[in-house]
Amino acid sequence: MSGAKRSRDGCEASCDVLVAGAGPAGCAAALALAQAGADVVLTAPATTDRPRVGESLAPAAGPLLERLGVLERVALDGHTPCYGGRAVWGGDGPAEVSSVLGPYGPGRHLDRARFDAALLEAAEAAGALRRTGRIRAVERLPGHWRVATGAPGTAATLVARYVVDATGRPARLARRLGATPCPSDRLTAVAGILAAPGGRPVEPERTSLVESTFWGWWYTAPLPDGGRVLMAMTDADLVAGAHLHDRAVWWARAQATGHIRHRITSWREPPRQLTVAAAGPSCTRPAAGPGWAAVGDAATATDPLAARGIVMALATGMEGARAILADHAGDSGALAAYARRITALHEEHLRARAVQYRREQRWDTPFWRRRHGTTD
Ligand SMILES: Cc1cc2nc3c(=O)[nH]c(=O)nc-3n(C[C@H](O)[C@H](O)[C@H](O)COP(=O)(O)OP(=O)(O)OC[C@H]3O[C@@H](n4cnc5c(N)ncnc54)[C@H](O)[C@@H]3O)c2cc1C
Repeated sequence: MSGAKRSRDGCEASCDVLVAGAGPAGCAAALALAQAGADVVLTAPATTDRPRVGESLAPAAGPLLERLGVLERVALDGHTPCYGGRAVWGGDGPAEVSSVLGPYGPGRHLDRARFDAALLEAAEAAGALRRTGRIRAVERLPGHWRVATGAPGTAATLVARYVVDATGRPARLARRLGATPCPSDRLTAVAGILAAPGGRPVEPERTSLVESTFWGWWYTAPLPDGGRVLMAMTDADLVAGAHLHDRAVWWARAQATGHIRHRITSWREPPRQLTVAAAGPSCTRPAAGPGWAAVGDAATATDPLAARGIVMALATGMEGARAILADHAGDSGALAAYARRITALHEEHLRARAVQYRREQRWDTPFWRRRHGTTD
């Protein structure tokens, strides 16, 4: 691909590829494309102080980060090792899953904002041009796209040969192109960040913990700064019945668990804010078309039980970039093949996930019946 006219002043500018979204998927795609010589613009809203959820990086991310040339940077960035997970699932005692002896060694407990920022810096260092602004509108013209970004007053128009949707689960760009995100269920996270306790530093164990309960399951993991993420997972329509949006109830339910409660003994009260987020598997159909591709959660999102979301975001960001480069090089089937691959990845995830949920048979409640396919 060739270089193109660039402008930083908010007026019309053109590029080879416009990537919308600066999470792991958008940064991986922008980085891979820029490294291949494409002229890339990466646009996303300014970062906010809202805490990001998704902080356990599976060991399988290692080879992907290495291929992107950022493994060393991430390794030196103050994230802490994750030696695996424990799960109280299908029985009262915790089962251990160690990653230390796996082919990629331990995973990481991330400072997620720092991790995302490092990927963005790497994409910019590779030549991607960063713009601040949301995608507002997109129009197909012969051989290129015209994309409006930003808010009134800071609006800009960009012209691009290809567009990449990396806007996360809402798939905001792909929707505008006629694609549909298809969620498989209504799994919802009610998550809180327990700030690092003051005073004597706590030496956290370096594993995550999942514990199932009659209305869903809990998840907790330590954060690099001594804080902790704690989340309750259930279906959107069951959140209200379990009163999980109420901080006091959420906290009391965490205290009533058999194992999770032992990981939160350093905290006397719940976090000031709970974040409610859609968390079920989803697949956008189609995930690519002529001149565009969706990557990361915008293409396919996974159940957090698998703790694979960031790995999938990096992998599909890179695969989406490859498909665009192949299409540009004359392989007219590359984007359709990428879309089929996304569907196949999603179906594989659903099969693996069904096996995990079938392993828990202790409750005959709506949450579990739905996952066992017995009713509701
Ligand atoms: C409760 C929960 C817990 C999770 N835990 C884990 C975990 O422990 N480990 C793990 O690997 N994964 C986890 N995940 C999944 C993981 O966080 C996601 O899979 C991952 O963040 C997806 O990356 P992404 O780049 O596709 O999207 P995102 O990280 O969501 O990034 C989307 C980007 O798009 C931008 N954007 C949004 N709208 C627009 C617009 N209109 N125009 C331009 N830009 C836009 C956003 O600002 C952001 O930069 C979890 C998910 C949930 C819901």
